[in-house]
Amino acid sequence: MSKICHWDFVICHSEIMSQDKMDKIISLCKRRGFVFPSSEIYGGFGGVYDFGPLGFELKQNIKNVWLKAMKSQENIVPLDSAILMNPKVWQASGHLTAGFADELVECKSCHKRFKTDEISGNKCPECGGKITKPKKFNIMMKTFVGPVEDEAAVTYLRGETCQGIYVNYLNILNLMRLKIPFGVIQIGKAFRNEVNPKNFIFRTREFEQMEMEWFCEPKDADKFFDFWKEQRIKWYQDLGIKKENLRAVEIPEGKRAHYAKKQIDIEYHFPFGWKEIEGVHNRGDYDLSNHSKHSGEDLKYLDEESGQKYFPHIIETSVGVERALFAFFCDAYQEIKGGRTKTTKAAKEIEILLKLHKSLAPIKVAVLPLVRNKPELVKKAKEVYQLLRPYFTCQYDELGSIGRRYRRQDETATAFCLTIDFESLEKDDLTIRERDTMKQERVKIKDITKTLKEKLEA
Ligand code: ATP
Repeated sequence: MSKICHWDFVICHSEIMSQDKMDKIISLCKRRGFVFPSSEIYGGFGGVYDFGPLGFELKQNIKNVWLKAMKSQENIVPLDSAILMNPKVWQASGHLTAGFADELVECKSCHKRFKTDEISGNKCPECGGKITKPKKFNIMMKTFVGPVEDEAAVTYLRGETCQGIYVNYLNILNLMRLKIPFGVIQIGKAFRNEVNPKNFIFRTREFEQMEMEWFCEPKDADKFFDFWKEQRIKWYQDLGIKKENLRAVEIPEGKRAHYAKKQIDIEYHFPFGWKEIEGVHNRGDYDLSNHSKHSGEDLKYLDEESGQKYFPHIIETSVGVERALFAFFCDAYQEIKGGRTKTTKAAKEIEILLKLHKSLAPIKVAVLPLVRNKPELVKKAKEVYQLLRPYFTCQYDELGSIGRRYRRQDETATAFCLTIDFESLEKDDLTIRERDTMKQERVKIKDITKTLKEKLEA
């Protein structure tokens, strides 16, 4: 049995989120330009998604806050290694053998394939037919380099970004003149030929990982494992994920990734259940010792003070950008029956509010003239928009009533709406409306950049 660590979390069993909520989130993602099926005009492409203008901004913000958090730690350096690598890397890492394989069964009647951990009993969950014995299926994505498609030309799209870090370990250590302990971070694409991509962007065949590999003395590995586990949980909480929707599960021996001596999965309570969003692993000396053996390079670390040589142990934190995005999205999604505005009659039965943390909000500021048929208002609003564009991700919107425009911005998590009204023409000011409280205040246009910067950093 996996051990669920409670710490200070309250695990919420009461709220069983429905398929209905999932459908609404998927619909909002499409409708408002966050996520599109890949190659949609050709009917899509299984397990692959594109991120539209708002999805791009949200992903970018997630990567930025992750980088900022990582770089705030001492002794961390970044890397951008290639997706394509010498196939020997994947031999050494264990990814071409059983380690990186899913166990599959096939239904003898409808021929659908399932991962063994997705079915209980020995019947097909779809049609009730008999199923075959489990078979291993490697999920590395094969490709060819060069003009001849033979065995010698085979390589793989990387299945995880961290291998690029391990094979560059000596370069980084020596050229950056680092001493243990230190960390290397990398954000980049990873590919897995998932047998059963599902749950929207939760399990896809192409995704981005944000990985941190911490190289340390073997005797310090447990201490740093706990340190990083806590840092990563705090990161989600600081970004507003509700405590009751987050938990950490210690994975027992036999169920861990093939390289892990110790493993904690940070899980989020998605509409379809508790699922991993991030893994924290103690990889021991698995990677460096294997790469040493296979490459013939001595990847041991020389401790100049003690004169001792050893393979550093590695603590890894690994999260998928899209999975994190999905968790932030689900957590932020709110429906308000009858709407939030009490002063005027709500235009809709249900209002959607996407309460993303300000640092994640794809659009920080929307600029809205009160009405669009008054050229003076439009002119001033466009001036404000141009003034702010160099500093914030902004949107100019003049279509529809002001209430409707506020709701449209709330739906996509825009942090602040600025309204230019008739008073603005006289006083050279505007109204700033805060998304979560709907509180409004008047601010002079000359002070608006500073005010917004302060509010976004608060
Ligand atoms: P799972 O058990 O869900 O397949 P995993 O344990 O294989 O995940 P890791 O190899 O530890 O995952 O990868 C680290 C992180 O990369 C995961 O926590 C997840 O956020 C992300 N990730 C892994 N596989 C996928 C995928 N197919 N689609 C999207 N994100 C993924």
